[in-house]
Amino acid sequence: MLGVVGESGSGKSTLARVVMRLLDADRGEVELDGVRVDQLSASELRRLRPQFQMVFQDPYSSLDSSMTVGESIAQPLVVHRTVPKSERPDAVAALLERVGLGRDYADRYPDELSGGQRQRVAIARALALDPKLIVCDESVSALDVSTQNQVINLFEDIQRDSETSYLFIAHDLSVVRHIAHRVIVMYLGRVVESGPIERVFSAPAHPYTEALLSAIPIPNPRLQRARTRITLEGDPPDPTVVPAGCPFHDRCRHAMPRCSVDVPALQQVDGGGEAACHLLDLDEPVRLAGLDPDETAARPRSMRQPT
Ligand code: SF4
Repeated sequence: MLGVVGESGSGKSTLARVVMRLLDADRGEVELDGVRVDQLSASELRRLRPQFQMVFQDPYSSLDSSMTVGESIAQPLVVHRTVPKSERPDAVAALLERVGLGRDYADRYPDELSGGQRQRVAIARALALDPKLIVCDESVSALDVSTQNQVINLFEDIQRDSETSYLFIAHDLSVVRHIAHRVIVMYLGRVVESGPIERVFSAPAHPYTEALLSAIPIPNPRLQRARTRITLEGDPPDPTVVPAGCPFHDRCRHAMPRCSVDVPALQQVDGGGEAACHLLDLDEPVRLAGLDPDETAARPRSMRQPT
């Protein structure tokens, strides 16, 4: 599971739509399991579509309110003809059970469900074709905290039982810290840092990542009071008019003269991953503030709520 984080406007959802070929990329490549998705014709894309599915942010608009839950979940099976008609009810029931809903939910309409139940239905629909990749675009953001917890647990359970990979986009870094294995940090449509979750969260190599991490609340009042919150001034610049040099230089508290001139390239970071920052070129390394792994460690199982 690859987490994608960044402020609003950093390009996370655009990335999701480009990966799904809902938007065409201006440049770059999209490759899924060796296949150049960005070069497929419409018919080739239709054939490959079962391999990559999406769970959207808003479970209230992503389900057709005129269709029953069963019809919504069966729709991919009908469109791609993967399951004979006679076997569809059982396939739908199995998917409902997989996401923690009983088979009796098949006859209900979305309006009869809570937000969490709707998102489970959306996940069941995404799982129907046994995809290699599921793109989750802020899929838990619209849910209340308790329901969010349940859906995150569901993703974890599904992850354990399948080979499916996830691109998990979220603005809540705590959620990404908990659920993802690797993370990329985006700013103005670019990846400014990437790496294993543990390294990026405990020893960030890019000042933008440092600032995002400083905004995560620590569930310990003493530590929370003692930490320094790094406030990012202003909104991100217009992504169509990217500043010269490092795109982050006018908001960066570590900026140096060369930062407004030279564009930093991604380079490898000790502990895994990459970052695009001139601080990495200094003889004296600058240690950026991360989070104590103990304070941000995965939730204990006792905090899990029943799914
Ligand atoms: Fe800050 Fe300079 Fe690094 Fe950009 S390259 S993040 S401005 S220190």
